[in-house]
Amino acid sequence: MPFSEIIGQDRAIAVLRRSISMGRVAHAYLFSGIEGCGKRKSALAFIQAVFCGREEACGVCSCCKKVANGQHPDLHILEPDGAFIKIDQVRELQKELSYRPFEAPKKACIIDGADKLNLSSGNALLKTLEEPPGDALMILIAPERSAVLQTILSRCQALQFQPLAAELIEGRLVRDRFPAEAARVAATLSGGSLKRGIEIATDGVLEGRGSFLERIIALNLKDVSALFAAAEEFAADKEGLPGLLELLLSFLRDILIYRSTPGALANADLEQLIAREAARCPESRVMELIEQLVAMRRMLARNVNARLALEVFFMRFAAR
Ligand SMILES: [Zn+2]
Repeated sequence: MPFSEIIGQDRAIAVLRRSISMGRVAHAYLFSGIEGCGKRKSALAFIQAVFCGREEACGVCSCCKKVANGQHPDLHILEPDGAFIKIDQVRELQKELSYRPFEAPKKACIIDGADKLNLSSGNALLKTLEEPPGDALMILIAPERSAVLQTILSRCQALQFQPLAAELIEGRLVRDRFPAEAARVAATLSGGSLKRGIEIATDGVLEGRGSFLERIIALNLKDVSALFAAAEEFAADKEGLPGLLELLLSFLRDILIYRSTPGALANADLEQLIAREAARCPESRVMELIEQLVAMRRMLARNVNARLALEVFFMRFAAR
């Protein structure tokens, strides 16, 4: 994966390219940004370029090919084993980095989940970050800087990766042969994550979207058993729930903007449904629901009882 394949991260990539051309590659970097915005791909492209000895990797030498295939003996990738990166994993990595490189100019590693280093594994890593053996290149990846131990952060050159613009994601999905309509909707629902955009365009989220929303809209306080059943069912789908809430949020936003900018709907194919709700629901009420939904999402991220939270939200929604 050359740098040129990565979309929307021009600033971070310019910094990386310059560090190669000036011969000033740092020991340790921290790439932060939301999931699916290109951090790991950029790390691989950077390591490939450093191994290849050029600002942009040639892509055809044996070193480049091995990095691309994930089989380079001098590249080590560390990921959480369970909830955390454990101290034994860090020690194993340190041992690997202490060997002489087989064929690359230096050893390199990607620690994908630097926010999952706990105090002991993080402390174990500190000295290696300061003085990597044999001038090794270390790239740490995390969703946000604040999630990384301060002691780790202070030893890395930090690079911020931006959420991707919806147009960029849409363009990439179309290039990758997703139907134009699916690409557009998935891009607007992706929250700036290409990975999420691909997931939405690929899995059943889009097809099930209309019927999911119809069902939520039909919930009413006269039939609380149906309301509670829906809360229970959606709460049980732990994997799918964040996507469904994202969908509901985009739908509420569409209701809000329908009167002013009907051409800018994320769910343009559901315009009839949106128009109906916009006619029925005052703007202030929609705003409140959006606020409540955002607050609920935050609570769910902290492992609040999902069924209970959904019940409360659905009751508020049904009373709109
Ligand atoms: Zn090469």
